[in-house]
Amino acid sequence: MESTETNHQSSVKSAWNKRPLIISGPCSAETEEQVLETAQRLAKTGQVDMLRAGIWKPRTKPGMFEGIGAKGLPWLQQAKKLTGLPTTVEVATGKQVEDALTFDVDVLWIGARTTVNPFSVQEVADALRGVDVPVLIKNPINPDLELWQGAVERVARAGIKEIGLIHRGFSSYGNTEFRNAPMWHLAIEMKRRMPGMKIINDPSHICGRRDILQATAQKAIDLDFDGLMIESHIDPDNAWSDAKQQITPERLAEMLTDIIWRRENVPSETFHAALDKLREQINHIDDELMQLISQRMNIAEKIGAYKKNNNVTILQSTRWNEILDKAVRKAEKLDLSEEFITRYMDAVHMESINRQNKVMND
Ligand code: PEP
Ligand code: MN
Repeated sequence: MESTETNHQSSVKSAWNKRPLIISGPCSAETEEQVLETAQRLAKTGQVDMLRAGIWKPRTKPGMFEGIGAKGLPWLQQAKKLTGLPTTVEVATGKQVEDALTFDVDVLWIGARTTVNPFSVQEVADALRGVDVPVLIKNPINPDLELWQGAVERVARAGIKEIGLIHRGFSSYGNTEFRNAPMWHLAIEMKRRMPGMKIINDPSHICGRRDILQATAQKAIDLDFDGLMIESHIDPDNAWSDAKQQITPERLAEMLTDIIWRRENVPSETFHAALDKLREQINHIDDELMQLISQRMNIAEKIGAYKKNNNVTILQSTRWNEILDKAVRKAEKLDLSEEFITRYMDAVHMESINRQNKVMND
């Protein structure tokens, strides 16, 4: 008995440290048969390291399936026994942490709707005190890195050593291609802030649909994510939650096979020499761009002084629209996306306005 337990603990550890770490399973545990069959079909692919299932489901509106509750925990225990796959569930309260641990759940995750609420995160963290279990923390539903980082800090202060991040995209008003906008730059910034911390991508909740899952997963791998959490179901169309985004275990296996797994580095000298040269060019261009932008700001300040002397407003919408229009047209010719050039011009314009503001009001 003692030695089986140790074996399982070491398999949890090796799953946790595996790269890429692949987590899959249904959005929600629905029935015992569904959990066991999903787990067995996932295990059969040989490509999955951890079994996920939502036991308590935070739903946006009442009247939807809110999870099977603690009754589903023994099913996960059984699934683990049959397949050897470590298990992971979402927890949002102290009681859920307790229940999950009672049924030997191996890894806990904090959901996006919990990460936004420091009271809830603190309650989960308090329940974790003195417990040795890895915890994954999803980004909050709103694009606020401080909240995400705050949740990591609360869990870390409770003494949890193994913490990872899950990027599942951010709510945005209006229909976009994605259910939750990926805003990759935020995940990249989080990686920069927390060097060495594992970050997993959840293309299921980003996409909300099957047809763009593969491309999104590939993008995450291209951006050097440490793994993927993808929802799978034995009968996706009839899933009790998130039916549109779930795929069968077999489809998942195909997807994982088709992904091009990239390395962060290769030990080849020619590769590095070529890379260094290109990087040097980029550094040089960045320097020049910065010089030019600084010159542009100095001119903006002169304009600010003129406007001040003539009592003219800083913002002149017609002029700004003209500049933006011209930039977008030019960008197209230069193969720069409209989205990029608009954001770039907005940033430059804002800085310019701030500088003029200073001149005018000093
Ligand atoms: C889930 O993983 O099923 C889930 C509820 O995700 P999120 O917290 O990202 O919405
Ligand atoms: Mn889901």
